[in-house]
Amino acid sequence: MRSELYIDGTWRPSSDGRTFDVVNPATEEVIHRAAAASAEDVDIAVKAARRAFDKDGWPKLAGRKRARYLRAIADGIRARQAEVARLEVIDNGKPLPEADWDIADAAGCFDFYAGLAEQLDNNPEEPIALADARFTSKAVKEPIGVAGAIIPWNYPLLMAAWKVAPALAAGCTVVLKPAEVTSLTALELAAIADEAGLPPGVLNIVTGAGSVAGQAIIDHKGVDKLAFTGSGPVGAKIMAAAARDIKRVSLELGGKSPFVVFDDADIDDAVEWIMFGIFWNQGQVCSATSRVLVQEGIYERLLARLVEETKKIKIGDGLQEGVLLGPLVSRRQYEQVLAAIEAAKDAGAMVACGGKRPEGFEKGYYLEPTVLTNAPLDSDAWREEIFGPVLCIRPFATEEEAIELANDSRFGLAAAVMSKDDLRAERVASAFRAGIVWINCSQPTFTEAPWGGYKESGLGRELGRWGLENYLETKQITKYVSEDSW
Ligand code: NAD
Repeated sequence: MRSELYIDGTWRPSSDGRTFDVVNPATEEVIHRAAAASAEDVDIAVKAARRAFDKDGWPKLAGRKRARYLRAIADGIRARQAEVARLEVIDNGKPLPEADWDIADAAGCFDFYAGLAEQLDNNPEEPIALADARFTSKAVKEPIGVAGAIIPWNYPLLMAAWKVAPALAAGCTVVLKPAEVTSLTALELAAIADEAGLPPGVLNIVTGAGSVAGQAIIDHKGVDKLAFTGSGPVGAKIMAAAARDIKRVSLELGGKSPFVVFDDADIDDAVEWIMFGIFWNQGQVCSATSRVLVQEGIYERLLARLVEETKKIKIGDGLQEGVLLGPLVSRRQYEQVLAAIEAAKDAGAMVACGGKRPEGFEKGYYLEPTVLTNAPLDSDAWREEIFGPVLCIRPFATEEEAIELANDSRFGLAAAVMSKDDLRAERVASAFRAGIVWINCSQPTFTEAPWGGYKESGLGRELGRWGLENYLETKQITKYVSEDSW
């Protein structure tokens, strides 16, 4: 396990010697200590990234050469997949098969952006047809510069990959800060990038507190672009900091995503997707479909099946075979989710199952998967993100009512619909005010497809070619070609 900051191609302790504890959420034991970067460390990291961008030539390197580094990082991740997945489990708490999947996905993300880096060479400029024949013009894409990336704890390595891979592919250099509760795999990424021979300063990873290291990144004049995934309030701070210096900014924030099930849907299929949509990763998923709307005709039957299946979920340490639900990531998160359940009950919601610590667990931030009914439409339980294994379910009568309820939210990250009637499913999909819409499923995520939210769920899109655009500027080059006017 690494414990130092990775800055300018070297490992170093924080300038003031500070560290913070790394806790295994399954056992509550301190398993490691990592360096807590100071503002001074961030300054050194940003200066290294600036030099790598302005002088050392990373942005000038042909895309196919940058792609070689990205593929080497992808190979490095795969070569250490088992070890890195295990680190993710003891740091984040998720079940090992999920961690394994995330790590493979992170490697795939580097491969995907390697492909896009190569394409930048094939299509570097776009001719522009001007009405005025005395001029010719073209548009070229160039990297923005130094990217400051700040990520959350729910998919530690994967969120790092979503930011680092497109940024490096575009020709940007990066200073990345992982969440303080999950730093281990980001540091492994630094080690893997180092082994891949990535030039010094191109990728810098600083661990530490949001209020210190994160704040220093967003305030730094040497950073050209901020890329953030996390909570709405911190997202607002980041947008305000970006506004001060007109930094480019992309934000991936929270959600309270609806899942609409019509009464022609197969109940067992619906139950499976509903459970995947909220209990996967202990519900700590920004796009979790935490508001389930079921048409009256099947509501009671579906609810009974859902409760029956939810009670069967095996809870435990993510390293144990067969576990489907691990602990929440931290004591703070555990206490917040329990408090949200208590507040839901106070507001009139009923607990159909779960809602408490499972029996037999003395240590660890474990919580039973929870189904809430009757949450009032104006309650926090229905409207605010809980970010835990808690879903609210309610019946609806008509398609119009379902759409209205689904869209009645300040968020707009994701939405799902299930129906055997294809036309109806398409109609509802197009009526959803959300950036990601799933038909007859919930949560599948693909590196090739755009990811991001409407409304307060964010700004900009990650993944796919949209993710690369986040790190590119467009330059117009216009030439005067006529002698006539002289
Ligand atoms: P958070 O906003 O508290 O922290 C996210 C990151 O921001 C961490 O690295 C943290 O250290 C840093 N940070 C905190 N204060 C900062 C500051 N003043 N300046 C700069 N950086 C600062 O969120 P969290 O608790 O890590 O994650 C949970 C939230 O993130 C949920 O609301 C969830 O919906 C959201 N989320 C969204 C997505 C998405 O793709 N849209 C993905 C994962 C999580």
